[in-house]
Amino acid sequence: MVNDCIFCKIAAGSIPARLAYQDDQLVAFYDLNPQAPTHILVIPRRHLPGLAEAEPGDQALLGHLLLVTRRIAEQEGIAASGFRVVINTHADAGQSVPHLHAHILGGRRLGWPPG
Ligand code: AMP
Repeated sequence: MVNDCIFCKIAAGSIPARLAYQDDQLVAFYDLNPQAPTHILVIPRRHLPGLAEAEPGDQALLGHLLLVTRRIAEQEGIAASGFRVVINTHADAGQSVPHLHAHILGGRRLGWPPG
């Protein structure tokens, strides 16, 4: 737990979020500023600043996270219609919260390439 990390606080339950999924390693919650009809963030409970800081020992965690995004897409009813998983990494990608998070976006036709 990093004291000034908002996503650590959500994982710990000390600031509120609308949860979509949780287990012993991950928490998923609805984005406060949704960019699509379904917009959910999946984070590890353990503080990891981002994908660029992940290490070989995080392999199982990252694999689990990816499979959980699919599970949440199924739960939310967007698995068949289509969904996108995005991990913004560092400044050029627009990462604004330095705690690893995967965005799950769906429920409308998503543009490509991204802006
Ligand atoms: P990124 O720009 O990839 O770092 O994504 C950060 C995301 O976190 C943005 O989509 C924000 O809307 C979202 N966000 C920030 N604070 C909260 C919060 N307290 N609850 C839910 N989503 C949040």
